[in-house]
Amino acid sequence: MKENNTMKALRAHAPYDYRLEDIPRPAPKEGEILIRVLACGICAGDVKSYHGGIRIWGTSEADRYIDAPVTGGHEICGEVVELGEGVSDFSVGDRIVTEQIVPCGECVYCRRGTYWMCTRSAVYGFKEVCPGGFAEYAILPRTSINHKVPESLTLEQATLIEPIACGMHALERAQIQHSDVVVISGLGGIGLSMLSIAAAAMPRLVIGLDVRPERAARGLDYGADYVFNPAECDVAEEIRNLTDGLGCDVYVEVSGSPISVRQGLECTANLGRFVQMGVFADLVQADWNVIGDGKELTILGSHLSGLTYPAVIRGIESGVIKTDGIVTHTFALGEWEKAFETAEKDPTALKVLLVPGE
Ligand SMILES: [Zn+2]
Ligand SMILES: [Zn+2]
Repeated sequence: MKENNTMKALRAHAPYDYRLEDIPRPAPKEGEILIRVLACGICAGDVKSYHGGIRIWGTSEADRYIDAPVTGGHEICGEVVELGEGVSDFSVGDRIVTEQIVPCGECVYCRRGTYWMCTRSAVYGFKEVCPGGFAEYAILPRTSINHKVPESLTLEQATLIEPIACGMHALERAQIQHSDVVVISGLGGIGLSMLSIAAAAMPRLVIGLDVRPERAARGLDYGADYVFNPAECDVAEEIRNLTDGLGCDVYVEVSGSPISVRQGLECTANLGRFVQMGVFADLVQADWNVIGDGKELTILGSHLSGLTYPAVIRGIESGVIKTDGIVTHTFALGEWEKAFETAEKDPTALKVLLVPGE
């Protein structure tokens, strides 16, 4: 086999069956861009997928989201190496990031401009039509949405644009007011960067919550006025003490823990907003009466990133969005098993990157 005709790719065959394989290096067709992958972040969703996550693998063939075998990875930064016919907005050599969803451009949501809710959605790394970035090369399809990365951003920062864009979208849903007390529950890589984005909106207070002491300790560096560890104190009481007994105005659930949902309903003040961003492995049980008869809360969902990539790029470039120390580990593609294990189990891990070509 000639080296330049093939590439290494990490392909998901089945839960717990991922293989580093030599597959044909793709060539860009009309409207497509071929990138050499510089780095691809491991998302919590990728780890869940490896473990057979039900939202990805379903309960049978019929409700399966993933087209296995497929190359995983959607937090992609790459360098343009070849342009398909008709591509004029990028040049060979550009360093670009691609939005995680490749919208169809035709469904009602796409036509309304709300492409992140595309009904024919294809997120990189799950569908045959858009294999992901855990590979040496990747094709960015004709309807993909791509952004140039300024030279001043490091590769680590560039790879964080996707997850931070999701966090910024969740905060945008909350429509933060300057009088608000804002709580971010779950201080992983996304949650930490969300503290700095929330602080930039100049609310009355930004409060971070995390049960892992390593993460909670870092919150103050990213813009939180207070950080509490729910494993060590009564968070609702601490928040009431800071708010004349009322509670927070905005609670953003980023952790994906059912306990954090109940905690949020307890912490939030009358007429407050609760934003759900985290993804749960289990069904959530909570007292639904709090929302209506109790506090007249506004419940807001948040899915992917909406229109936030350009703002995230500006924010990282200006330093308003803090990214220092969020990428904690980088592994070569060949060490993917160690990388996945680190992302899942290492208490010091925030964002773990896979870098091909090493
Ligand atoms: Zn992700
Ligand atoms: Zn669509």
